[in-house]
Amino acid sequence: MTSSAQERDLPPLSLKFKDELKSNDRQLINELITWWKKQHNKDLNITGRFGYNKCLLLFANDVDTFDDIIQKSHWPKKIQQLDYEIKLPRVFPPSYSLVVQQFPKNWNELETAEELKERYPSLIKLTRMYGRNNTKLNSVRVDFHTLQQVQVLLQDKVINISQMKLPVKTYYQPIRVKKCMKCFSHDHNTNYCTNQQLCIRCGQQHSLTNNCQNEIRCANCKQKHFAGHPFCPIVQQKRKQLVEQQKINRSKLLINTSNLQYQYDQADFPVPVPIFTGAPPSLPSGNYSAVLNRQSQLPQQLASQEKQTTKRNEYLEQILLSTMSNLESRISTSISSLSSQISEIETKIDRYNDQLNTLEHDVYEILIPAIQSITEIITTSRQGKKEQLTNITKSIIKMRQNREQKINHISRNTNAELSQSIFSNVDES
Ligand SMILES: [Zn+2]
Ligand SMILES: [Zn+2]
Ligand SMILES: [Zn+2]
Repeated sequence: MTSSAQERDLPPLSLKFKDELKSNDRQLINELITWWKKQHNKDLNITGRFGYNKCLLLFANDVDTFDDIIQKSHWPKKIQQLDYEIKLPRVFPPSYSLVVQQFPKNWNELETAEELKERYPSLIKLTRMYGRNNTKLNSVRVDFHTLQQVQVLLQDKVINISQMKLPVKTYYQPIRVKKCMKCFSHDHNTNYCTNQQLCIRCGQQHSLTNNCQNEIRCANCKQKHFAGHPFCPIVQQKRKQLVEQQKINRSKLLINTSNLQYQYDQADFPVPVPIFTGAPPSLPSGNYSAVLNRQSQLPQQLASQEKQTTKRNEYLEQILLSTMSNLESRISTSISSLSSQISEIETKIDRYNDQLNTLEHDVYEILIPAIQSITEIITTSRQGKKEQLTNITKSIIKMRQNREQKINHISRNTNAELSQSIFSNVDES
């Protein structure tokens, strides 16, 4: 996520050879690139040249390459059969540092660094931070020579010092306005300047052999101060732009982080909704108020995305709740209909039991005694025969009448029940 401008400013690495070199700088770099490709299967994106005292200066063109070449373990033992020594840059890019907070003002940075190196071998040094008016702050900048270590610590949010855990946070480089030492422009650095050397005192182009006696005049704003003075309106304008750019970069970083968090949450509880993916909308450069507007819109966009998801979740919750209550009501209906059917069956069983009882009663109380009487009449005397037979006939007739009445009653009830159940079936379907 580092811009190309920042990448160009990656500090160089220098190689000091112990014996005299026979090859030129290009040959050495070519050999190194070939070796790296063979050994690590990586294309080294570097440029380089001989510097002071035939030190080979190497410039990484991107952050990945920089992180690769500053690891001493990645290097060959010899280059062109020659021993050499790697000198790491004195200053690393800001991403290799972090800020340790709550670091007491009376703690010694050197001592603490030595102690910390045992636990964090890639630690380089601790530097006390100072606020306005040069006041000592209770925080230190800690530099490492691996990006990975910084990232791990920032993730843990603490660093272990002795038995204590001190909070850490991202380090942001203080804002520095560029200044060309040739033409004193604030738009480029000296090594990119194609202009003529100007006088720092009067801002004009003249021979610099004699001490300039002209009136002090800024090369940029033509006011009475040296070029690059903090009160120069051009310097102040540049500083303001840089502060805004830094704010934008930080909010971009925040949005990217919360995006990652957001995607992680979604994965944790999958919901079939489109996920807000990809980089945040690109920010326009130039128009200052437009930049500010866009910047203030970004958190709102994120918030609205979150709101939409919350709405969707609420909607899903409602659907689930209504489905559940629907199921519950259907289950309770089924239970009540089942229990009513059971009670109907029980009633029918009771009725059949009653009929069975009546039948038994008729058989045992009327039919069998009648048969007994008939047998007696046939076998014994014939006196009063007619009277007895008439009585038996009467009781049999009565029994048949009862039986007919009962049958009629049952068939009426059954028909009624049958039609009722048919109607209720029609209703249910
Ligand atoms: Zn210049
Ligand atoms: Zn001058
Ligand atoms: Zn000025």
